Amino acid sequence: MLAATMCGFISIFGPDGTDVVQDVLNGLLAIQHRGQDAAGVVTFGEKFEAKKGLGLVREVFEEKHLHRLRGPLAVGHVRYPTVGVGSDTDVQPFWLDFPVGVAMAHNGNVTNFLELKRRYFPQRGIYLNSNCDLEAVLYVFAAELMKRPRQGIGPEDVREAVAEVFRMVKGSYSVVGIVSGQGMFAFRDPFGIKPIIVGQKQTPEGTWFAVASESVVLDVAGYEILRDLRAGEMLWIGKDRKLHTVQVGGEPHRPCIFEYVYFARPDSTLDGVSVYQARLRLGERMGRSWQATGLDVDVVIPVPESARTAAQAMAETMGVPYREGFVKNRYVGRTFIMPSDKKRRDSVRQKLNPIRIEFEGKRVLILDDSIVRGHTSRQIVKIARQMGAKKVYLASYSPPLLYPCPYGIDMSTQREFIARGRTVEEVGKEIGADHLLFQDIDDMVEAVRGSERRDLVFCKACFEGSYPTGDVTEEMLRDIEQERLAAAKTE
Ligand code: AMP
Repeated sequence: MLAATMCGFISIFGPDGTDVVQDVLNGLLAIQHRGQDAAGVVTFGEKFEAKKGLGLVREVFEEKHLHRLRGPLAVGHVRYPTVGVGSDTDVQPFWLDFPVGVAMAHNGNVTNFLELKRRYFPQRGIYLNSNCDLEAVLYVFAAELMKRPRQGIGPEDVREAVAEVFRMVKGSYSVVGIVSGQGMFAFRDPFGIKPIIVGQKQTPEGTWFAVASESVVLDVAGYEILRDLRAGEMLWIGKDRKLHTVQVGGEPHRPCIFEYVYFARPDSTLDGVSVYQARLRLGERMGRSWQATGLDVDVVIPVPESARTAAQAMAETMGVPYREGFVKNRYVGRTFIMPSDKKRRDSVRQKLNPIRIEFEGKRVLILDDSIVRGHTSRQIVKIARQMGAKKVYLASYSPPLLYPCPYGIDMSTQREFIARGRTVEEVGKEIGADHLLFQDIDDMVEAVRGSERRDLVFCKACFEGSYPTGDVTEEMLRDIEQERLAAAKTE
């Protein structure tokens, strides 16, 4: 089964004699929201040392592991399987000791992985071990690096290896990694779909460099933010301890808009746009659009956690109270983590408990970030009615999700999207809401850009079906769909 992933990573290069593992673990805790399925760390002191396992960061790592995970170079990862239920053999980071020592982690999804696995690698006598698309990136990268001198790797060697990855590997991938005893590299695919950001900190021992998938990782681990990597850009920090960045690929930058809508933490800044401010603006626009419906409401209630920020702005714009009508049990985990539909349906009630006085006798407007299959919304509307709401209105601050994401966000199979083949009124009826409002697509784009990055053009394939990498075929989407259906059956 394929284990394509939406994940989080961090890689650190500290001064000689330091152990960076503690910073890596702090960083992984800060991006636990990007993956609760598995976690792993690989360090290099004298040799590669690894600890990986299924579960949360705090479940996988114990103090005893820290004594072993020594050295100034490390890479860490949290995994969220978007296709199938991942197994522990596929837990990242991956590494090779020979012919060149490279450890690597990524976020994204290689769209031509099956083709590479079935044809490209076997023709070269290589049979991939895992079902994880990172392995393809690792082998292409290492094979190219191997052609170069093993001692004293420089930015030019890494540039060649990254260029080969860009030639061979399609899809979305932000990658971090370390070369044994030599340094740290990172690169962002030519369309820059997934986020990746660089930071550094100064201590008496010297400069520490970190690369992570969200800025919040750098914040909590005490790193000053330098900048995001550009689409198609690579980074190398070698023995000279200098930060080398090189533009390797040149495609139009198309960062994923769904990161701002749902996936990233509100306290992160991605490609120069604060996720928190983007969500406030998304809420403001929703507020104005709701006012245009002419429907009066008594209270705006978010579906926690992601819709909170936008709901506050929406309520403020409408001049209506914002109330926490649902209390979230943080310990149940994200509903998507339980991949079968039955488990997902049952867990909404476990996860969100209503506060009756916020519903009773009121016209409530419930805001969520998105509607995928509609299970969450249907149950939420039902709960609101059980709590005695007079009217139950629903709004999603992103437009209807209609197309599968081949780049690593779990968007389910085509047939599961509730909005597919239905009008908004029909979706509202299906869900049982008295009125349903989605964000307009142009409003979403304008809101996320704000005045901060007017130039940003996003990947919004999940809303409109145009895939920026140009290589996504019906066959590929069918392959992903088959994997997902097979995965659902095996649970
Ligand atoms: P659904 O119940 O299938 O309509 O899913 C909608 C809910 O899932 C919303 O509350 C979202 O916050 C959440 N959601 C949307 N996209 C994702 C995703 N890719 N992974 C996990 N949760 C998601």
